[in-house]
Amino acid sequence: MEKEFSNLYELQKIDKIIYDSEQELSQIPEEIKKQEDIFKTKEEKYNNIKESLENLKQMKEEKEQFVEEQKQMIVRKEEKLYALKTYQEFNETQKEIANAKKEIKETEDEIVKCMEQIEEQEKLFKDAEQDYLNFKKEYEDFLKNSEKREHDIKNIISKQTELRNKLTDKIDNQLLSQYDLIRSRRQGVAIVKINSNTCSACFMNLPPQLVIEVRKKNKVVQCPSCQRILIWNDEK
Ligand SMILES: [Zn+2]
Repeated sequence: MEKEFSNLYELQKIDKIIYDSEQELSQIPEEIKKQEDIFKTKEEKYNNIKESLENLKQMKEEKEQFVEEQKQMIVRKEEKLYALKTYQEFNETQKEIANAKKEIKETEDEIVKCMEQIEEQEKLFKDAEQDYLNFKKEYEDFLKNSEKREHDIKNIISKQTELRNKLTDKIDNQLLSQYDLIRSRRQGVAIVKINSNTCSACFMNLPPQLVIEVRKKNKVVQCPSCQRILIWNDEK
């Protein structure tokens, strides 16, 4: 029985590595999702400011073009002003010129406002762009690392599984299924050493008679509290 226990304890070490590795592996998609969400938020902010800046610039261009057209129109009207035949025509054209000049003035004020907004948005854009590009790099590195980590962990699991299979051949089937059952119910740990008459998993103080049974190493003794298989600690 002693050899069985030491094999089972070796198996527990392997299973602990597999268990921890699987836990770590299962957390990777969530970690990726978290980073992806941050990245998308930064990307969206960057794109929004970029779009608003482009809109402002286009608006400014349209206003400038309008001013230019109005100025050209005024020149044309002024050129033919004194060739007009009636006083009424002269009067109307002069009114049109005055209106156009008023519109130019208003539009030029709007252009100044536009330019102020552009300046403001450009500052925001620079910050958002820097933030976005920095995080993009960070995010891409993170994805590469996660992929590598995933690959490494899978390697560990497959190597440990090979070791496990070799070892389980040496363990009695009934004992093995008892062990596997406890392991599935107890966070991956089914066999523990006694430490100063205490279960080293759940820290229950063990009755002296039970400790003696464990020390004899001739049958399976379970912790009355956590049900894990108890084995004697020879290292002490
Ligand atoms: Zn216990």
